[in-house]
Amino acid sequence: MILLDGKKIASQIKEEIAGRVGEIVKSEGKTPHLAAVIVGSDGASETYVAHKVKACKEVGFNSSLFRLEEQVTEDLLLGKIDEINNNNDIDGVIVQLPLPSHISEDKVIERISVRKDVDGFHPVNVGRMLIGQPAYISATPYGILQLLERYNIETSGKHCVIIGRSNIVGKPVAALMARKGYPGDCTVTLCHSRTRNLEDICRQADILVAALGSAGFVNADMVKEGAVVIDVGITRVQSNETKSGWKLLGDVGFQEVAPKCSYITPVPGGVGPMTIVSLLANTLRASLGEIYGRQRTGQ
Ligand code: NAD
Repeated sequence: MILLDGKKIASQIKEEIAGRVGEIVKSEGKTPHLAAVIVGSDGASETYVAHKVKACKEVGFNSSLFRLEEQVTEDLLLGKIDEINNNNDIDGVIVQLPLPSHISEDKVIERISVRKDVDGFHPVNVGRMLIGQPAYISATPYGILQLLERYNIETSGKHCVIIGRSNIVGKPVAALMARKGYPGDCTVTLCHSRTRNLEDICRQADILVAALGSAGFVNADMVKEGAVVIDVGITRVQSNETKSGWKLLGDVGFQEVAPKCSYITPVPGGVGPMTIVSLLANTLRASLGEIYGRQRTGQ
Protein backbone atom coordinates (compact mmCIF):
# COMPACT_ATOMS: atom_id res chain seq x y z
CA MET A 1 0.00 0.00 0.00
CA ILE A 2 1.29 3.45 -0.93
CA LEU A 3 0.08 6.50 0.94
CA LEU A 4 -1.01 9.35 -1.35
CA ASP A 5 0.73 12.06 0.62
CA GLY A 6 -1.24 15.19 -0.22
CA LYS A 7 0.69 17.24 2.31
CA LYS A 8 4.03 16.41 0.67
CA ILE A 9 2.81 16.92 -2.90
CA ALA A 10 1.04 20.15 -1.94
CA SER A 11 4.23 21.56 -0.46
CA GLN A 12 6.16 20.59 -3.63
CA ILE A 13 3.55 22.36 -5.77
CA LYS A 14 3.66 25.39 -3.45
CA GLU A 15 7.42 25.59 -3.97
CA GLU A 16 6.93 25.42 -7.73
CA ILE A 17 4.33 28.20 -7.59
CA ALA A 18 6.51 30.33 -5.31
CA GLY A 19 9.36 29.88 -7.77
CA ARG A 20 7.21 31.32 -10.54
CA VAL A 21 6.02 34.39 -8.65
CA GLY A 22 9.33 36.21 -9.14
CA GLU A 23 9.18 35.60 -12.92
CA ILE A 24 5.55 36.76 -13.04
CA VAL A 25 6.33 39.96 -11.19
CA LYS A 26 8.99 40.63 -13.84
CA SER A 27 6.90 39.69 -16.87
CA GLU A 28 3.49 40.99 -15.74
CA GLY A 29 4.67 43.87 -13.57
CA LYS A 30 2.46 42.69 -10.71
CA THR A 31 2.08 40.06 -8.00
CA PRO A 32 -0.74 37.46 -8.28
CA HIS A 33 -3.56 38.59 -6.01
CA LEU A 34 -6.42 36.56 -4.52
CA ALA A 35 -9.43 38.19 -2.86
CA ALA A 36 -11.57 36.27 -0.38
CA VAL A 37 -15.01 37.36 0.77
CA ILE A 38 -16.42 36.04 4.02
CA VAL A 39 -19.90 36.76 5.32
CA GLY A 40 -20.60 36.36 9.04
CA SER A 41 -18.31 34.60 11.48
CA ASP A 42 -18.92 30.85 11.13
CA GLY A 43 -16.01 29.05 12.84
CA ALA A 44 -15.32 26.51 10.08
CA SER A 45 -15.51 29.18 7.34
CA GLU A 46 -13.11 31.41 9.29
CA THR A 47 -10.64 28.52 9.52
CA TYR A 48 -10.88 27.68 5.82
CA VAL A 49 -10.39 31.30 4.76
CA ALA A 50 -7.48 31.75 7.18
CA HIS A 51 -5.77 28.71 5.63
CA LYS A 52 -6.23 30.12 2.14
CA VAL A 53 -4.86 33.54 3.10
CA LYS A 54 -1.88 31.88 4.83
CA ALA A 55 -1.20 29.75 1.73
CA CYS A 56 -1.15 32.91 -0.42
CA LYS A 57 1.49 34.44 1.85
CA GLU A 58 3.59 31.27 1.71
CA VAL A 59 3.89 31.42 -2.09
CA GLY A 60 4.33 35.21 -2.26
CA PHE A 61 0.84 36.12 -3.56
CA ASN A 62 -1.01 39.18 -2.36
CA SER A 63 -4.34 38.51 -0.71
CA SER A 64 -7.25 40.65 0.44
CA LEU A 65 -9.88 39.54 2.88
CA PHE A 66 -13.25 41.29 2.70
CA ARG A 67 -15.39 40.70 5.78
CA LEU A 68 -19.09 41.41 5.64
CA GLU A 69 -21.47 41.10 8.55
CA GLU A 70 -23.94 38.21 8.75
CA GLN A 71 -26.91 40.57 8.13
CA VAL A 72 -25.41 42.12 4.97
CA THR A 73 -27.98 42.48 2.18
CA GLU A 74 -27.64 40.47 -1.02
CA ASP A 75 -27.35 43.75 -2.98
CA LEU A 76 -24.45 44.94 -0.87
CA LEU A 77 -22.61 41.64 -1.33
CA LEU A 78 -23.24 41.73 -5.10
CA GLY A 79 -21.92 45.31 -5.11
CA LYS A 80 -18.74 44.17 -3.36
CA ILE A 81 -18.27 41.47 -5.99
CA ASP A 82 -18.72 44.06 -8.78
CA GLU A 83 -16.07 46.19 -7.10
CA ILE A 84 -13.64 43.24 -7.00
CA ASN A 85 -14.47 42.27 -10.60
CA ASN A 86 -13.55 45.81 -11.66
CA ASN A 87 -10.34 45.97 -9.65
CA ASN A 88 -7.54 45.23 -12.11
CA ASP A 89 -5.09 44.46 -9.34
CA ILE A 90 -7.14 41.43 -8.22
CA ASP A 91 -6.72 38.26 -10.30
CA GLY A 92 -9.01 35.82 -8.51
CA VAL A 93 -11.90 35.94 -6.06
CA ILE A 94 -13.55 33.38 -3.83
CA VAL A 95 -16.68 33.78 -1.76
CA GLN A 96 -16.56 31.43 1.20
CA LEU A 97 -19.65 29.19 1.29
CA PRO A 98 -22.12 28.58 2.83
CA LEU A 99 -23.74 32.03 2.81
CA PRO A 100 -26.52 33.08 5.21
CA SER A 101 -29.93 31.79 4.07
CA HIS A 102 -31.25 35.24 3.00
CA ILE A 103 -28.59 35.38 0.24
CA SER A 104 -28.82 33.36 -2.97
CA GLU A 105 -25.56 31.47 -3.46
CA ASP A 106 -26.42 30.94 -7.13
CA LYS A 107 -26.80 34.69 -7.71
CA VAL A 108 -23.54 35.43 -5.93
CA ILE A 109 -21.58 32.78 -7.84
CA GLU A 110 -22.99 33.99 -11.16
CA ARG A 111 -21.98 37.56 -10.34
CA ILE A 112 -18.28 36.65 -10.09
CA SER A 113 -16.42 37.41 -13.30
CA VAL A 114 -15.70 34.08 -15.06
CA ARG A 115 -12.13 35.34 -15.49
CA LYS A 116 -11.67 35.66 -11.72
CA ASP A 117 -13.69 32.58 -10.71
CA VAL A 118 -10.73 30.64 -9.31
CA ASP A 119 -13.08 28.39 -7.30
CA GLY A 120 -14.48 27.21 -10.65
CA PHE A 121 -18.09 27.35 -9.40
CA HIS A 122 -19.48 29.73 -12.06
CA PRO A 123 -21.84 27.89 -14.47
CA VAL A 124 -19.70 29.02 -17.42
CA ASN A 125 -16.58 27.41 -15.94
CA VAL A 126 -18.52 24.28 -14.96
CA GLY A 127 -19.97 24.03 -18.50
CA ARG A 128 -16.62 24.60 -20.18
CA MET A 129 -15.01 21.96 -17.96
CA LEU A 130 -17.79 19.53 -18.91
CA ILE A 131 -17.28 19.96 -22.66
CA GLY A 132 -13.50 19.93 -22.40
CA GLN A 133 -12.79 23.63 -23.01
CA PRO A 134 -10.16 25.44 -20.94
CA ALA A 135 -11.77 26.41 -17.62
CA TYR A 136 -11.10 26.88 -13.96
CA ILE A 137 -11.64 23.48 -12.39
CA SER A 138 -12.90 23.62 -8.84
CA ALA A 139 -10.18 23.13 -6.28
CA THR A 140 -11.05 19.74 -4.74
CA PRO A 141 -11.52 17.86 -8.05
CA TYR A 142 -8.43 19.60 -9.48
CA GLY A 143 -6.47 18.56 -6.38
CA ILE A 144 -7.55 14.93 -6.78
CA LEU A 145 -6.47 14.93 -10.44
CA GLN A 146 -3.10 16.40 -9.54
CA LEU A 147 -2.56 13.79 -6.85
CA LEU A 148 -3.31 10.94 -9.30
CA GLU A 149 -0.99 12.54 -11.83
CA ARG A 150 1.92 13.11 -9.47
CA TYR A 151 1.81 9.44 -8.41
CA ASN A 152 1.47 8.34 -12.07
CA ILE A 153 -1.63 6.32 -11.27
CA GLU A 154 -3.03 4.61 -14.34
CA THR A 155 -6.64 5.66 -15.02
CA SER A 156 -7.35 4.64 -18.63
CA GLY A 157 -10.09 2.00 -18.87
CA LYS A 158 -10.42 1.78 -15.09
CA HIS A 159 -13.76 1.69 -13.32
CA CYS A 160 -14.00 4.80 -11.14
CA VAL A 161 -16.80 4.77 -8.57
CA ILE A 162 -17.66 8.04 -6.84
CA ILE A 163 -19.87 8.25 -3.76
CA GLY A 164 -21.55 11.66 -3.56
CA ARG A 165 -23.03 13.88 -6.28
CA SER A 166 -22.45 17.41 -4.98
CA ASN A 167 -21.72 20.22 -7.43
CA ILE A 168 -18.35 20.95 -5.85
CA VAL A 169 -16.96 17.41 -5.57
CA GLY A 170 -18.86 14.35 -6.84
CA LYS A 171 -20.25 15.67 -10.12
CA PRO A 172 -17.09 17.42 -11.35
CA VAL A 173 -14.91 14.44 -10.33
CA ALA A 174 -17.23 12.17 -12.36
CA ALA A 175 -17.01 14.44 -15.41
CA LEU A 176 -13.23 14.76 -15.17
CA MET A 177 -12.54 11.06 -14.67
CA ALA A 178 -14.73 10.25 -17.69
CA ARG A 179 -13.12 12.80 -20.01
CA LYS A 180 -10.70 11.86 -22.75
CA GLY A 181 -7.07 12.08 -21.66
CA TYR A 182 -5.01 11.66 -18.53
CA PRO A 183 -6.09 11.56 -15.76
CA GLY A 184 -9.38 10.34 -17.20
CA ASP A 185 -10.62 7.78 -19.73
CA CYS A 186 -12.35 5.96 -16.87
CA THR A 187 -15.68 4.21 -16.92
CA VAL A 188 -17.50 6.15 -14.22
CA THR A 189 -20.30 5.24 -11.83
CA LEU A 190 -21.68 8.13 -9.78
CA CYS A 191 -23.40 6.93 -6.60
CA HIS A 192 -25.56 8.91 -4.20
CA SER A 193 -28.03 8.56 -1.37
CA ARG A 194 -30.61 6.77 -3.58
CA THR A 195 -28.16 4.30 -5.13
CA ARG A 196 -29.14 0.64 -4.76
CA ASN A 197 -26.53 -2.04 -4.07
CA LEU A 198 -23.91 0.58 -3.23
CA GLU A 199 -21.64 -1.96 -1.57
CA ASP A 200 -21.62 -4.21 -4.68
CA ILE A 201 -20.84 -1.24 -6.92
CA CYS A 202 -18.01 -0.06 -4.66
CA ARG A 203 -16.47 -3.54 -4.73
CA GLN A 204 -16.18 -3.21 -8.52
CA ALA A 205 -14.16 -0.01 -8.27
CA ASP A 206 -10.55 0.19 -9.45
CA ILE A 207 -10.61 3.78 -8.20
CA LEU A 208 -13.02 4.65 -5.37
CA VAL A 209 -13.68 8.29 -4.47
CA ALA A 210 -15.60 8.76 -1.22
CA ALA A 211 -17.21 12.21 -0.96
CA LEU A 212 -20.35 11.85 1.10
CA GLY A 213 -19.43 13.34 4.49
CA SER A 214 -20.09 10.31 6.70
CA ALA A 215 -17.16 9.33 8.93
CA GLY A 216 -15.83 5.80 8.36
CA PHE A 217 -18.64 4.93 5.91
CA VAL A 218 -16.45 2.89 3.55
CA ASN A 219 -15.37 -0.38 5.18
CA ALA A 220 -13.00 -3.12 4.04
CA ASP A 221 -15.85 -5.24 2.61
CA MET A 222 -16.67 -2.48 0.14
CA VAL A 223 -13.17 -2.29 -1.35
CA LYS A 224 -11.58 -4.54 -3.97
CA GLU A 225 -8.06 -5.84 -3.36
CA GLY A 226 -5.61 -3.43 -5.05
CA ALA A 227 -8.04 -0.52 -5.42
CA VAL A 228 -7.02 3.15 -5.34
CA VAL A 229 -9.03 4.91 -2.63
CA ILE A 230 -9.45 8.69 -2.48
CA ASP A 231 -11.06 9.93 0.73
CA VAL A 232 -12.53 13.41 0.36
CA GLY A 233 -14.69 13.40 3.49
CA ILE A 234 -13.96 15.62 6.45
CA THR A 235 -15.97 15.21 9.62
CA ARG A 236 -14.84 17.14 12.69
CA VAL A 237 -15.39 15.23 15.92
CA GLN A 238 -14.52 15.98 19.53
CA SER A 239 -11.46 14.17 20.77
CA ASN A 240 -9.34 14.06 23.89
CA GLU A 241 -6.39 12.73 21.88
CA THR A 242 -5.57 16.15 20.42
CA LYS A 243 -4.56 19.50 21.92
CA SER A 244 -7.33 21.34 20.11
CA GLY A 245 -9.98 18.92 21.41
CA TRP A 246 -11.02 18.11 17.81
CA LYS A 247 -9.95 15.62 15.20
CA LEU A 248 -10.82 15.12 11.55
CA LEU A 249 -12.24 11.86 10.22
CA GLY A 250 -12.56 10.78 6.61
CA ASP A 251 -15.34 8.83 4.90
CA VAL A 252 -13.12 5.74 4.80
CA GLY A 253 -12.30 3.45 7.73
CA PHE A 254 -8.58 3.90 7.08
CA GLN A 255 -7.21 1.21 9.42
CA GLU A 256 -9.25 -1.62 7.92
CA VAL A 257 -9.31 -0.40 4.30
CA ALA A 258 -5.66 0.64 3.81
CA PRO A 259 -4.17 -2.90 3.79
CA LYS A 260 -6.36 -3.81 0.77
CA CYS A 261 -5.40 -0.76 -1.31
CA SER A 262 -2.68 -0.13 -3.85
CA TYR A 263 -2.90 3.59 -2.98
CA ILE A 264 -4.94 5.50 -0.40
CA THR A 265 -5.21 9.09 0.85
CA PRO A 266 -5.06 9.74 4.59
CA VAL A 267 -7.35 12.17 6.43
CA PRO A 268 -5.99 14.65 7.31
CA GLY A 269 -3.06 15.16 4.91
CA GLY A 270 -4.57 13.78 1.69
CA VAL A 271 -7.11 15.66 -0.41
CA GLY A 272 -7.36 18.67 1.98
CA PRO A 273 -3.90 20.19 1.33
CA MET A 274 -4.30 19.48 -2.41
CA THR A 275 -7.50 21.54 -2.43
CA ILE A 276 -5.79 24.67 -1.11
CA VAL A 277 -2.83 24.35 -3.44
CA SER A 278 -5.20 23.98 -6.41
CA LEU A 279 -6.79 27.29 -5.53
CA LEU A 280 -3.30 28.82 -5.66
CA ALA A 281 -2.66 27.13 -9.03
CA ASN A 282 -5.91 28.60 -10.38
CA THR A 283 -4.97 32.05 -9.10
CA LEU A 284 -1.61 31.75 -10.84
CA ARG A 285 -3.38 30.84 -14.09
CA ALA A 286 -5.72 33.81 -13.63
CA SER A 287 -2.80 36.19 -13.15
CA LEU A 288 -1.27 34.91 -16.39
CA GLY A 289 -4.58 35.14 -18.27
CA GLU A 290 -4.09 31.48 -19.27
CA ILE A 291 -7.77 30.68 -19.70
CA TYR A 292 -9.52 33.87 -20.76
CA GLY A 293 -6.62 36.10 -21.84
CA ARG A 294 -5.70 39.36 -20.16
CA GLN A 295 -8.13 40.95 -17.75
CA ARG A 296 -9.80 44.18 -18.71
CA THR A 297 -11.87 46.41 -16.45
CA GLY A 298 -15.42 45.22 -15.93
CA GLN A 299 -15.01 41.73 -17.36
P1 NAD B 1 -22.69 17.24 0.17
O1 NAD B 1 -23.34 17.08 1.50
O2 NAD B 1 -23.02 18.41 -0.68
O3 NAD B 1 -22.99 15.93 -0.69
C1 NAD B 1 -22.95 14.65 -0.14
C2 NAD B 1 -23.35 13.66 -1.21
O4 NAD B 1 -23.22 12.36 -0.65
C3 NAD B 1 -24.77 13.81 -1.72
O5 NAD B 1 -24.72 13.82 -3.12
C4 NAD B 1 -25.49 12.58 -1.22
O6 NAD B 1 -26.39 12.05 -2.18
C5 NAD B 1 -24.36 11.60 -0.99
N1 NAD B 1 -24.65 10.70 0.14
C6 NAD B 1 -24.97 11.04 1.40
N2 NAD B 1 -25.17 9.93 2.14
C7 NAD B 1 -24.99 8.88 1.33
C8 NAD B 1 -25.06 7.48 1.51
N3 NAD B 1 -25.36 6.93 2.69
N4 NAD B 1 -24.78 6.69 0.46
C9 NAD B 1 -24.47 7.22 -0.75
N5 NAD B 1 -24.38 8.55 -0.97
C10 NAD B 1 -24.64 9.37 0.06
O7 NAD B 1 -21.14 17.10 0.44
P2 NAD B 1 -19.84 17.72 -0.27
O8 NAD B 1 -19.85 19.19 -0.16
O9 NAD B 1 -19.61 17.08 -1.60
O10 NAD B 1 -18.74 17.15 0.74
C11 NAD B 1 -18.60 15.77 0.99
C12 NAD B 1 -17.54 15.57 2.06
O11 NAD B 1 -16.31 16.04 1.55
C13 NAD B 1 -17.78 16.36 3.35
O12 NAD B 1 -17.28 15.60 4.43
C14 NAD B 1 -16.96 17.60 3.17
O13 NAD B 1 -16.55 18.16 4.40
C15 NAD B 1 -15.78 17.05 2.41
N6 NAD B 1 -15.06 18.01 1.58
C16 NAD B 1 -13.71 17.98 1.69
C17 NAD B 1 -12.95 18.83 0.90
C18 NAD B 1 -11.46 18.77 1.02
O14 NAD B 1 -10.80 19.70 0.66
N7 NAD B 1 -10.91 17.66 1.51
C19 NAD B 1 -13.56 19.71 0.03
C20 NAD B 1 -14.96 19.69 -0.10
C21 NAD B 1 -15.70 18.82 0.69
